[in-house]
Amino acid sequence: MVEKVTRSIVIVGSTGSIGQQALEVVRAHPAELRVVGLAAGKRLDVLARQVHDFKPSYVNAPSLTAAQEWHGAITTTLENLCELPEADLVLIATVGSTGLAPTLTAIRARKLVALANKEVLVMAGQWVMAEAQRVGVPILPVDSEHSAVWQCFAGDCRLGGDLACSSIERIILTASGGAFRDRPIEELAAVSREEALAHPNWVMGPKVTIDSATLMNKGFEVIEAHWLFGLPYEKIDVLLHRESIVHALVEFYDGSLRAALGPPDMRIPVQHALTYPERFPASWPRLKLTEIGKLSFSPLNRRRYPCFNLALDAAKTGGTAPAVLSAADDVAVRLFLEGKIGFADIPNVVDRALQAHRLIAQPTLDDVLDADRRTREDLEASLDRGTRRA
Ligand code: MG
Repeated sequence: MVEKVTRSIVIVGSTGSIGQQALEVVRAHPAELRVVGLAAGKRLDVLARQVHDFKPSYVNAPSLTAAQEWHGAITTTLENLCELPEADLVLIATVGSTGLAPTLTAIRARKLVALANKEVLVMAGQWVMAEAQRVGVPILPVDSEHSAVWQCFAGDCRLGGDLACSSIERIILTASGGAFRDRPIEELAAVSREEALAHPNWVMGPKVTIDSATLMNKGFEVIEAHWLFGLPYEKIDVLLHRESIVHALVEFYDGSLRAALGPPDMRIPVQHALTYPERFPASWPRLKLTEIGKLSFSPLNRRRYPCFNLALDAAKTGGTAPAVLSAADDVAVRLFLEGKIGFADIPNVVDRALQAHRLIAQPTLDDVLDADRRTREDLEASLDRGTRRA
């Protein structure tokens, strides 16, 4: 019988896709997992229902309304929520740069941090990992590929900000190829929002789904892996794997290759992070290998995915470039979802922002935050000018 832990959890971004799936995990383990705080910036009706169902002691929402609307939960600031003395673990399940401040607060309060927000590491991986190392808390990956790498490492390397493990030759992240992997490239300019939101394998929030269609998501994940595992970019490869069954592989220097497989179900990596270092039983649908029959792997067609190339270039440039990449992509995806630009314009918007940016090679965290803010402002301003001309 495995000894169970009783873990008190704060979820930042509880009404998004990952937040809701994390609550399903909590619901499946009511004796061992307890929600002590919930925060959400959107869908406050969903938040109210979550507070009713999970009875956290504290809640954070943009408009701090009367306590009775939150079923007795005490409203508090996001900062307070991330350092609650009664919390053991903070799950950062937001998207975009909003996840950075709560991540740093939770690290400094010595919480276990389960990180689902990849933009936090894309823009500020250096500071987040340095802070985690200084304080001595591990950052637990939630992204399926990184959870898979983490699980492949088990027994060979330890988690904790310096996974740089000398016996690793390389890691391989897999990519499904997104919604348009079989579309002729010349048709991509005309694809609709609805088509782009129909991911072949995964159910995810809109930002991540569009980023998966452009493969910006995979570029972000390479940067995320670089920081999480302390690996140089030359040791991080990406392969196209249409089935989304093998989430990542680790190749050791003796030629041994270890893979982590599972159904494309985010509840599995979410639960792994929430219950680490234990494994809890789960009743999610299982992988039926005989039904899948075969697994395929092929190199990426880089011409199809200009966003992936932009991400790798920004990663290698370093400094403020990844923050500009992330901010510009955030704006570009929103513009696409609002019907203001076409799908094929997304890489152009990001590329223009990167070209226009004056790189700071050795930035401070303030420089990075400034690059994020200015990129957004500049893009909004140029859009306004474009609208006025039109
Ligand atoms: Mg992923």
